[in-house]
Amino acid sequence: MNMLLPSPYVSPWLSDDVADLAGVARNFFKTEVVPHLERFDEQRQVDAETWLAAGRAGLLCAAGSPEFGGGGGTFAHEAAVMWEQAKSGDDSLGYAVHSGIVAPYLEAFGTTEQKARWLPGMATGETVGAIAMTEPGAGSDLQNIRTTARLEGDDYVISGSKTFISNASHAGIVIVVCRTGGEGAQGISLIVVETKDPATGEPTPGFERGRVLDKIGLHGQDTRELHFSDVRVPAANLLGGEPGQGFYQLMNQLPQERLAIAVGAVAAAEYAVELATAYVKEREAFGRRVADFQNTRFTLAEVSTEVLAARTFLDHCIQLHLEGRLDPVTASRVKYWTTDLQCSVVDRCLQLFGGYGYMREYPIARLYAAARVQKIYGGTNEIMKDLIGRFL
Ligand SMILES: Cc1cc2nc3c(=O)[nH]c(=O)nc-3n(C[C@H](O)[C@H](O)[C@H](O)COP(=O)(O)OP(=O)(O)OC[C@H]3O[C@@H](n4cnc5c(N)ncnc54)[C@H](O)[C@@H]3O)c2cc1C
Repeated sequence: MNMLLPSPYVSPWLSDDVADLAGVARNFFKTEVVPHLERFDEQRQVDAETWLAAGRAGLLCAAGSPEFGGGGGTFAHEAAVMWEQAKSGDDSLGYAVHSGIVAPYLEAFGTTEQKARWLPGMATGETVGAIAMTEPGAGSDLQNIRTTARLEGDDYVISGSKTFISNASHAGIVIVVCRTGGEGAQGISLIVVETKDPATGEPTPGFERGRVLDKIGLHGQDTRELHFSDVRVPAANLLGGEPGQGFYQLMNQLPQERLAIAVGAVAAAEYAVELATAYVKEREAFGRRVADFQNTRFTLAEVSTEVLAARTFLDHCIQLHLEGRLDPVTASRVKYWTTDLQCSVVDRCLQLFGGYGYMREYPIARLYAAARVQKIYGGTNEIMKDLIGRFL
């Protein structure tokens, strides 16, 4: 039930089985995650058991191939889980990176052997996925990465450092963006690093996790630096088996990554409006409900309208993606516009809470801290506009 609309708005991609999965996800986040958010914040990560529980519930790799343990669904299934996660107020489980980014790379470019090796564990939650693109000296400018992988016999030997890596504490596999050739895009490859030996469980020599980064929000997420000192992996871990394909593979997957961020953005904005709408009906000032001030009603009228507009834009993009027609420019548009909107809507909703809105025990405060990074990762919003501008 959507309290923002007199008649319910149903996303066109919400088929019966997608709606069923959304119901499972709603219940999972409500019972298995939200009650533990403060503890996750303190320990700077979710429990390993949370990943396993998500796997048991059938939420991980919902769009993955059934022969490798996946749910056999489409991006609509992934979107439904991401939507429910954001609507639950969970900002800890790195679901979108694991299921919405890492697994799709393996699905799209992995050899049959690679898929069989890693995807079943990702579907059960035993193997958590991370992707390491960003380096201390190269974020937006991905072509400038310095991490190298040199071929020695049947192995690649990887050296370099990555930063801001989500799921870094739990990760069993990390897709590492490396330079296997010369300068520029042609020299980039994606190599999968197992963080421990699958047979013995021993940590991979030369692979080291740096400190957990102290962020302004998303405290329950294990975001860290990763260091690679002559990490030796079999050449068979090169994603797709052909060196020099990395930049093309990244460009191919970025539209879905950006769309996934937009799903979280619109869901979080809608949740903020729902929270504010409920709060102002309870809170009183000057002998009236806060809801009875004209400013409050105007604010809620504006944000609820903006969220509905964002939802229809998002649904259009999801539909395009389901038809295989989401182009990079449209994906950049929906990423930058919905995340800008998320920050603006959450800020205006928080204002209606007065001082309580600034207290972390109120979900609106968590939403505020979590929103800010959405304009930064997945390609900054400036990079999105640059891409759109260049197309125009
Ligand atoms: C919480 C969190 C989680 C993250 N998770 C991951 C992860 O899992 N894996 C991963 O690889 N990375 C991850 N990142 C990194 C993220 O993708 C980068 O921070 C982002 O791409 C920006 O890179 P940068 O930080 O180096 O900023 P820079 O590239 O240094 O940008 C600095 C500023 O310059 C602007 N700028 C840069 N180039 C241009 C240009 N051409 N035109 C106009 N303006 C420009 C940017 O927009 C920005 O405002 C995460 C980051 C955070 C904060």
